[in-house]
Amino acid sequence: MKHPFPFRIGTTSYIIPDEIIPNVRFLAQQVDDIELVLFEVDDGPNNLPDPSAIHELRRLAEENDLTYTVHLPLDLRLADKEGKQHQSLTKARKVIECTLGLNPWAYVLHLDGQEELENSDAHKKELWNDQAVKALDIVSKWAGDEALLSVENLEHYPTHFWDAVLDRSKASRCIDIGHLWLGHQDPVAYLEKHIQRARVLHIHGIKDRDHKSLANVPRDELKRVFDCIIAEKYSGVITIEVFEKDEFLTSMRTINEILNHGAKEASWEQN
Ligand SMILES: [Zn+2]
Repeated sequence: MKHPFPFRIGTTSYIIPDEIIPNVRFLAQQVDDIELVLFEVDDGPNNLPDPSAIHELRRLAEENDLTYTVHLPLDLRLADKEGKQHQSLTKARKVIECTLGLNPWAYVLHLDGQEELENSDAHKKELWNDQAVKALDIVSKWAGDEALLSVENLEHYPTHFWDAVLDRSKASRCIDIGHLWLGHQDPVAYLEKHIQRARVLHIHGIKDRDHKSLANVPRDELKRVFDCIIAEKYSGVITIEVFEKDEFLTSMRTINEILNHGAKEASWEQN
């Protein structure tokens, strides 16, 4: 690993204003993991890598001890009618099949429960839980392993919204710490409860909006979060989820300052 961190630090494939491969080349020596943000619009532009791009991404990963996490394009939802496949699943399949050759560390996904959120009917939520479990099961067949599916928490949902689904599934969690800050939740309490099930953590600062540099987070708060991650012996991916070079560089500098400052007391440094 390129850093003396006990976890794999990463960022997104949108740090310089260019396509995925130039971003991966730019980042390869600076991070351990890259989140591939793939989009695909019907009959419009898409950035799904073709086979030769996949080959190059794979080569870059092997050469630089890199892993990839893949963000699925649409919030997953089962079709309302039996026998039909919702387009979120169709697109998930396309992205998974396209990236299987990269052996992704995880597929990060959202479960769409927007309607259930607006409707407090308990029966409806039960139905949604069943459907979400089913959707994860379908997608896991394409990914090969359900644990590779990492369900991300979103800021406008109650933090326990996915618990009943995850209790009935082998999917993992993607804990987005920035979303917890945005929703005025305590990330440390949430991490202590759920980090053992996480394959991916997302982190980003808030300034006017989320997905900003970690330099915007009060140092004490950031240190408290990283102390918790280290105390829990988390060794998965932490993605600095920003989309601009300066936001990335200042975030890395902030993490380095916090962790190197603490290194004298931190036991993982000596082990
Ligand atoms: Zn996120």
